[in-house]
Amino acid sequence: MKSSTVAITIDGLLAQLPEKNSLADRELVQRAYRVAEKAHRGQKRASGEPYVTHCLAVASILAELQVPTAVIAAGLLHDTVEDTKITLEDLQSDFGGEITNLVDGVTKLTNLPRVSKDNQHAEILKASETGELRQQENEAEEERYNKPALMGRSPDLVSETLRKTFLAMGNDVRIVLIKLADRLHNMRTLRFMPEHKRKRIAQQTLDIFAPLANRLGIWQIKWELEDLGFRNTNPEKYKEIASHLDARREGREKQIQFMLIELEKMLTREGIQSKVTGRPKHIYSIYRKMMKKNKPFEMVRDVRAIRIIVNDVPDCYSALGLIHTRWRPLPNEFDDYIAAPKDNFYQSLHTAVIHDDGKPLEIQIRTPEMHESAEFGIAAHWRYKEDGGRNDLYNERIDNLRRMMEWDQDVDDATEFVESMKTDVFQDRVYIFTPNGDIIDLPAGSTPIDFAYHIHTDVGHRCRGAKVNGKLVSLSHELETGEQVHILTAKRGGPSRDWLNTNLGLVKTQRAKSKMRVWFRKQDQAQNIAQGRTLLEKELQRIGIKEKTNFENLARRMGYQSTEDLSLALGIGDLSVNSVVTQLSNEEQQAETLLPSAPDSGAEATNAINVVGLKGLLTNVAKCCNPTPGDEIVGYITRGRGASIHRSDCPNILRTTEQERLVQVNWGSLARTYPVPIRITAFDRSGLFGDVSYILSNDGINMIDANVKVVKGIADIQLVIEVSDINQLSRLLTRVENLPNVLEAQRQLPG
Ligand code: MN
Repeated sequence: MKSSTVAITIDGLLAQLPEKNSLADRELVQRAYRVAEKAHRGQKRASGEPYVTHCLAVASILAELQVPTAVIAAGLLHDTVEDTKITLEDLQSDFGGEITNLVDGVTKLTNLPRVSKDNQHAEILKASETGELRQQENEAEEERYNKPALMGRSPDLVSETLRKTFLAMGNDVRIVLIKLADRLHNMRTLRFMPEHKRKRIAQQTLDIFAPLANRLGIWQIKWELEDLGFRNTNPEKYKEIASHLDARREGREKQIQFMLIELEKMLTREGIQSKVTGRPKHIYSIYRKMMKKNKPFEMVRDVRAIRIIVNDVPDCYSALGLIHTRWRPLPNEFDDYIAAPKDNFYQSLHTAVIHDDGKPLEIQIRTPEMHESAEFGIAAHWRYKEDGGRNDLYNERIDNLRRMMEWDQDVDDATEFVESMKTDVFQDRVYIFTPNGDIIDLPAGSTPIDFAYHIHTDVGHRCRGAKVNGKLVSLSHELETGEQVHILTAKRGGPSRDWLNTNLGLVKTQRAKSKMRVWFRKQDQAQNIAQGRTLLEKELQRIGIKEKTNFENLARRMGYQSTEDLSLALGIGDLSVNSVVTQLSNEEQQAETLLPSAPDSGAEATNAINVVGLKGLLTNVAKCCNPTPGDEIVGYITRGRGASIHRSDCPNILRTTEQERLVQVNWGSLARTYPVPIRITAFDRSGLFGDVSYILSNDGINMIDANVKVVKGIADIQLVIEVSDINQLSRLLTRVENLPNVLEAQRQLPG
């Protein structure tokens, strides 16, 4: 996309229409412009320009994609029903059904449920710079939240709302294109918006619209949305990378110019016709590369990128062969997206070589068709309409999208739809409903406490329980997309220090954690010290090493002046009990004395291979494939001779029809384990022992002895378990103690 800052006029737009367009096409665009101009007259953009400049800009972006004229006209009219007196009936009589449906679709997309993100209350998928965003005070928001207006809404209804949201987008891909053009122009003019809105809109663009453009394969829109989104969410980093790039631009461009000529010559000598161009690196993609490879800018700045377009697929591979012969390819940088296209139908060969100057050069090789498809994605369809092959590709793309998002109207199962959306579209976020139906998005793995802090700091502090879809859940419940959460609060009080215990996994977001720390920091200093000390003592007591620990020493080893300082750090949550236990368990000799191995530890003998869940089963190493430690292995239960251990790629295993005989095995860890007796006291309930074993097996801990007694409703469970260090022991005991009905879980000391 050419991101021109000059306002587009109607004449400019008409000049953009392809020559082949008929007079009627031009007349339609002019008429749509006149209607939009009149309807929006008097309205202004945040930039101070007449509102219609936005309509023209959106239409111009669509014209650049060379979509049909009706879509361009709908682009001109896209905000009329939402923001002016014009009704759908007016459009119907003036422009007919097709354009009306497109405008209606875009309007519906702007009226989706509200989503709040990072304390900004806003509207999902709403361009929002025109609408009056409600700027609510926190108090008002909290009060609204506490009125459970739609508490009775069933979870099915909730799923259904989400599903409709995405069905609306899937009904007609042209609606999504208009929406993307709308968002792109809003992003280009984002600088006129107040700062807090800028960040939120930009984040939403990175979260939803850029991935959507990527799904549709429209690179031209995707990269610009990404760069603009990044520029506004992380302006410092953006500027840093941009200025680094600028500083070396001239030299780099000269260098690339030279490489292009050299490469083209080399290919021509071998009879391959090619067009070689430099490929601008986009700032967001550089940033992502830095993040992914965990490298500073210095490591990626020298990466130069070029693109080679050749006539056909065989030429792609020939060119690749020549390049790999001439320069050394970088390992792990070769990708054959011709043989295996990406999900969005992207095709190309990717490689990177070490060029003559010892620095890397990235190369993409593709045919003109692949190029067109890569730049315009689904919109490439309209560029060469007469070409039948493209029609097939277009239909295939549409089918693929429908399948991927279960856009098929026949799919009634809303839950299934939400499931697929969750995995395919928004992988790392969950979308949660408040009692009155607003949507809040949180990182995957978030709990009710995260949700509570997201609603309001004070709701977080006073959170004591939660209902999900009307049922009480534990505070460690991992929230899932579509769930409706109602937080139960106490009248007053603060967070529990348990929430900071990472063993319990009660809090996922940094935001909730830092709010809790702020709270604790404000408490009385002496009380914080006392609480911190108690926390630590209780944990050391639990794992049976309190008597052996010298607190003064420990504090100094952890870099604190005194035990008081250490206790204070624990009390305000700057340091977690887990880190202290980790420290203790890392101090090797210490671990040995803290966890003496049992005299009769026969563990070593069977430690070579562990059959998961089956301890002491006779195992022998298969002669056909001779697995050695480090290989991936699988066990095969033989008749009467225990399990034989094969490499998991052993032909005999791959061929076997008796899948039920295969068992999961792993090479015994070389670290030794220590038998430790523990004792659990609980009000007896059904499933209690099962829950305990589940926690054990989840952590790969063996149980070598168990003894359960129930007296007058109190269960006394004594186990001997094998743990590798006290860290693991601590984690296990904390988790067990937090099971419902459990009163205490303690290590038992001899005597
Ligand atoms: Mn708009």
